[in-house]
Amino acid sequence: MSTTDTQFLEDFAEMSRFGATPGGGVDRQAGTQADHATRKWFGDWLARHGFEETVDDAGNQFGTVELNPGAPYVLVGSHLDSQPLAGRYDGAYGVLAAAYACARVAEEFGAGTQAPAYNLAVVNWFNEEGSRFAPSMMGSSVFTGKMPLESALATTDGGGITVGQALAGGHRRPDGKAPGLASVALYAEIHIEQGRTLEESGTDVGIVHRTWAASKYRVTVDGAQSHTGATRMEDRRDALYGAALVITAARELTAEFEPGLLHTSVSEMNVLPNSPVTVARQVLMNLDLRSPDEDVLARAVALLDKRIIDAAESSRTAIALELTHSWGLVGYQPAGVELGRKSAEHLGFTHADVMTVAGHDSTNLKDAVPTVMLFVPSVEGISHNEAEYTRDDDALRGMELLTEVTRRLARGDLRKENPR
Ligand SMILES: [Zn+2]
Repeated sequence: MSTTDTQFLEDFAEMSRFGATPGGGVDRQAGTQADHATRKWFGDWLARHGFEETVDDAGNQFGTVELNPGAPYVLVGSHLDSQPLAGRYDGAYGVLAAAYACARVAEEFGAGTQAPAYNLAVVNWFNEEGSRFAPSMMGSSVFTGKMPLESALATTDGGGITVGQALAGGHRRPDGKAPGLASVALYAEIHIEQGRTLEESGTDVGIVHRTWAASKYRVTVDGAQSHTGATRMEDRRDALYGAALVITAARELTAEFEPGLLHTSVSEMNVLPNSPVTVARQVLMNLDLRSPDEDVLARAVALLDKRIIDAAESSRTAIALELTHSWGLVGYQPAGVELGRKSAEHLGFTHADVMTVAGHDSTNLKDAVPTVMLFVPSVEGISHNEAEYTRDDDALRGMELLTEVTRRLARGDLRKENPR
């Protein structure tokens, strides 16, 4: 194993101590002390390796290195925040791999005589997970102009703390001006697959060519508060019962389609008043539907609408769905996918084109600039779980691949002008 490989694994282990959980995972939701501590550690890492650290107003943390003054950036990164009781790899692996890739490529260009076509920047996107502050992919949404900065900063967590307040509680913000979208020419990201297609097929790396489509809803079930014992059954308007019918309908909907064509979840629930002897007056839930086929998603939503009418009728509640976040099947630029494949072949890695079921910051970035998205295998596809694991040799192969991709992007193999 090379010294860089050993160092990478050591750094990764050190970084994984922030927010470490007894079950071997991490818990560092956006803007918590554990997230701040990780960001501080990463800022120090950047400074030690010749990057200038900057943070933008949405909390996105950058490390830039000037190789060609005035030229736009090749931006490479992912996110350091996590879900509650989550794994060490989701996002964090990609940020450290990006830092290593940029440091290596900067060193190579620094030692050579030819300036690269672009400058390099590493990024740790703020609040990719959206667990404490919804929606997910918040920092990259603001960066790409899909979400106004003011709405991001005003978003509150369950305790009424805003994103703005959570960010202000972090480590000292460095002075310099952070890169904006206008100064970014290209983007690359590596992430764990969070599924098991690469592992099952014994493939070294995945080149992402498409996202699944996703629609996320806020579901509100309104009933009437009453006594759990004294209220006659026919008089009840039980919001929790209505919610249960929606949960069941969402799950059963997947059986209406070919296996693998529809994933649904109700993943979060707030019950009011959530009291032992009281029938619930209101339930708030998060519902998400995803599919590799936009028609399937549209049909699923239509079917669900019908079942929700039935659920409302039989529970005597009012059920409302509000779309909070969605994305379609827009592919990654073919030239970027091709660059990813060529890089893998150059390194002798087996590769496959894969779709991402999960959303990533690259889902936002690809709509703004040519983007290369890479995957490394996840053992058994386990993710958002403390047992999430990627083998060291897979993690190191991924870092090497991301370095090769960054090298090719920096020297100008893919231009902003001819992405598609
Ligand atoms: Zn992630």
